[in-house]
Amino acid sequence: MKANHLFLLLERLGNLLRSKEREAGGSQGLQAIHLQVLSFLSSCNKYSNTPAGITEYFGITKGTISQTLNVLEKNKLITRSADKKDLRVVHVELTKKAVDLLKNEIPPAVFKEALSELNDIERKTLTNLLYKLLVALQHNNNGKTFGVCKTCRHFKANAFGRHHQCGLTNEKLFNNEASKICREHERMVS
Ligand code: SF4
Repeated sequence: MKANHLFLLLERLGNLLRSKEREAGGSQGLQAIHLQVLSFLSSCNKYSNTPAGITEYFGITKGTISQTLNVLEKNKLITRSADKKDLRVVHVELTKKAVDLLKNEIPPAVFKEALSELNDIERKTLTNLLYKLLVALQHNNNGKTFGVCKTCRHFKANAFGRHHQCGLTNEKLFNNEASKICREHERMVS
């Protein structure tokens, strides 16, 4: 398949998914970016759930993120709190209302239906290939990986017995944190 054809295919998929997100958000008085930020917050770790982490992930201006957070806070979908160790750092957390909203709207129902037409092997193959493409794009773009913690070169499994450790901050990581994405993630060196 030619690069141009593949690019158009991915672009079409992206546009369709965005329009479904806009529909889902519209029924709640939200825009697609609002749902995307909520979705990011549901999957990122404690080092990434800050305005700076969100800005880095989406690659858009601080002003846009600040306005987005204001809307989400006004709608009681997020709370903001200062870091216990560094009061200059603010963490953004989802409220129960946001968790329920995401459960119902993300991924959009139409996407889940389309995905159900693929079997397990096809889904796994598609996931692996898209991930490979993403990694190559990030590499060529000097972008941060925002990868899953347990695939990071700093991740130390079971360093504290049942708990893991981040080799970058030396902090303890609980099991559920190992599956979150992180702005400090670095690929394993092969
Ligand atoms: S091990 Fe890597 S991905 Fe996990 S918290 Fe530390 S820096 Fe982030």
